[in-house]
Amino acid sequence: MLADLAGIGRDPTTGGYRRHVWNDADMLLREWFVGEAAARGMDVVEDGNGNQLAWWGSPGPDALLTGSHLDSVPDGGAYDGPLGVVSSFAAIDRLRADGFTPSRPVVVGSFADEEGARFGIACAGSQLVTGALAADRALAQKDRDGLTMAEVMAARGRDPRAVGRADWLGDIGTFVELHVEQGRSLVHSGAPVGVATAIWPHGRWRLDFCGEANHAGATLMQDRHDPMQAYAATVLASRRLATEASARATFGRLEVEPGGTNAIPSRVRAWLDARASDDESLEHLVEQVVAEARAASDLDGTSVEVTAESVSPAVDFDVPLRDRLAELLDAPVLPTGAGHDAGVLSAHVPTAMLFVRNPTGVSHSPVEHADDGDCEAGVVALAAVMRELAS
Ligand SMILES: [Zn+2]
Repeated sequence: MLADLAGIGRDPTTGGYRRHVWNDADMLLREWFVGEAAARGMDVVEDGNGNQLAWWGSPGPDALLTGSHLDSVPDGGAYDGPLGVVSSFAAIDRLRADGFTPSRPVVVGSFADEEGARFGIACAGSQLVTGALAADRALAQKDRDGLTMAEVMAARGRDPRAVGRADWLGDIGTFVELHVEQGRSLVHSGAPVGVATAIWPHGRWRLDFCGEANHAGATLMQDRHDPMQAYAATVLASRRLATEASARATFGRLEVEPGGTNAIPSRVRAWLDARASDDESLEHLVEQVVAEARAASDLDGTSVEVTAESVSPAVDFDVPLRDRLAELLDAPVLPTGAGHDAGVLSAHVPTAMLFVRNPTGVSHSPVEHADDGDCEAGVVALAAVMRELAS
């Protein structure tokens, strides 16, 4: 199944994936999902948010949900997301081959727009289902071409009025998401599969550094109101502050206006991705970065506006479920600094995550990898978990 997906949305120059919600690659992935479900006699329901659900058995209460997402970050890898969906189908194949019949409905989910690469809000599909993200806010989000989510969905034949809370969530009794590890904890513990304890709180903040455009040659250095200077100082400060706090701060996206080589910028728009081990530390880190940005802006007579685009609080996964799975699989437990749909759903249903070893720990990059043997171990583990929870 991973081989079938390998060519979809892959950029030939970078080797990375550009599978962004409702783009051509995303539409092909949706077709693939429907095809895999159909091949197993599973009915697919797509909710108003674009989340796909393939039911083993009739939809009904107390269902066991597994799955993950198929979309990617810009130039993402092959495993972040798809591994969880593929492993869910493969685990069902194993259980069926053993003659196993679940005692509760089992459903494979593929969540829409987990990475938020197009509209800027991570886990949009799951957040809309739970109501954590308001439909009108999501629908008004614009992509880089200036198209709103509502326009993009309508162009794909989806009804924007259907976006929002979905009834199916009430039928889910447990959610288990399998995911490639985004770190090297499992390498250090020598285990192919682990069980998640918690997700760090994280968020995205947009910083608009505003100054005055002018000529790169004719404007004296002391006469400039160049917002790039404050931006650069903020990046350096964020590294120092995050390092001191054992937290994470990343500026990975930047837009410069007017964007001329020989022009002082009028505006630098930058996105801060920040994460820390607890909510208070994260808040403190962002406050400090913003304070540095304001101080640096003041020096140049420029200004900075800060907008919190999305903030996800810390998630502690269901402890009895986590302990039960760790014992069942004889697997180590580990926290993660990456966000997941499982984190969103965990506020509503008992939720667990399984991680599959990633030898380099690299993720959100074309070099993201998991060995076939470890992927297989993930499937075996997920099948054991499904048998345990649906017997
Ligand atoms: Zn993911």
